[in-house]
Amino acid sequence: MPRPILATIHTAALQSNLARARAAAPDARVWAVVKANAYGHGIERVFEGLRGADGFALLDLDEARRMRALDWRGPILLLEGCFELRDLELCSRLGLWHTVHCDEQVDMLATHKTQLPHRVFLKMNSGMNRLGFAPERYRAAWTRLNALPQVEEISLMTHFSDADGPKGIAAQLHAFEAVTHDLPGERTLSNSAAALRHGAVVTDKSDWVRPGIAVYGSSPDFPEHTAADWELQPTMTLSSKIIGVQNLVAGDTVGYGSSFSADGPLRIGVVACGYADGYPRHCTTGTPVMVNGVRCRMVGRVSMDMITVDLTPVPEAGIGSEVTLWGQSSTGAVLSIDEIAHAAGTVGYELMCALALRVPVVAA
Ligand SMILES: *Cc1c(COP(=O)(O)O)cnc(C)c1O
Repeated sequence: MPRPILATIHTAALQSNLARARAAAPDARVWAVVKANAYGHGIERVFEGLRGADGFALLDLDEARRMRALDWRGPILLLEGCFELRDLELCSRLGLWHTVHCDEQVDMLATHKTQLPHRVFLKMNSGMNRLGFAPERYRAAWTRLNALPQVEEISLMTHFSDADGPKGIAAQLHAFEAVTHDLPGERTLSNSAAALRHGAVVTDKSDWVRPGIAVYGSSPDFPEHTAADWELQPTMTLSSKIIGVQNLVAGDTVGYGSSFSADGPLRIGVVACGYADGYPRHCTTGTPVMVNGVRCRMVGRVSMDMITVDLTPVPEAGIGSEVTLWGQSSTGAVLSIDEIAHAAGTVGYELMCALALRVPVVAA
């Protein structure tokens, strides 16, 4: 028998979350962001659930190829644009739309020989200081692009640094609008947090929204809002089983470094899941784990291949009992990936993306 750990990708939840993202920006078209192999879910595995999107956004050219191999003929946007000249050939061949965020990318386009002119998304750095033209240089870049025979249509794009937090989007939105208000072209501004939290402000300014994490059922602003608050459903369940049981007495310790010790008799379940599966080692005693759909607490340290759980809330549990590390148990109970990420000092994004290769994955 294989080791019992398994990741399940939920097609119906992807569909439902996509509809939720659409409802947040009802007048905009929706790019489902599928970068990083669909946030660790697998591009091929999410395609069925997300094919109702208006387009797919990603940044790895090989992933764009995989989308076309799935026979997706609609829009694909390269969020970081082209890295070298021959990427532009692939854009021409596969009909990819691409971001232009620096002069070097404009230079590359100017030397590119293509039959079909490209649709490009000109990115402004409105304050995040990652990719994009500074506001004062944006219009010059637009004018240069507009003069190129290689360019058919220019859309306008920026990205918010604080859509999930107290600083919000107002300053960046103002910087963007001040420079672009009289430029033609479609606009795309919002990630999940901007669409969900600031939909009312940005919706009439957006032709396209770019939700990623919301589509994968994780809250962009946990713990202020949970996924349930946003009516998002988990799209990835990481499940396993109990493979060992220990009965402790007061003073017994559990695992490496003896970081947990029992104050009295305690039944411990040993779960086939460790940091080599992508479960974060930063989780410690108290992190929630569901056994038979009931919330229990992890005790001791995460090892490479195992974790240990206090079975007090589930006395009937034993070897073979179902364990849900995150996602949905077979009873329907949900343990959000955001809670586990929070316990590890990180975000749901990282846990999804870090699911280890050795974990078998099925779509359901
Ligand atoms: C990743 C990404 C998104 C999606 O962000 P989420 O927070 O996952 O919704 C949107 N736009 C750009 C440019 C991105 O890189």
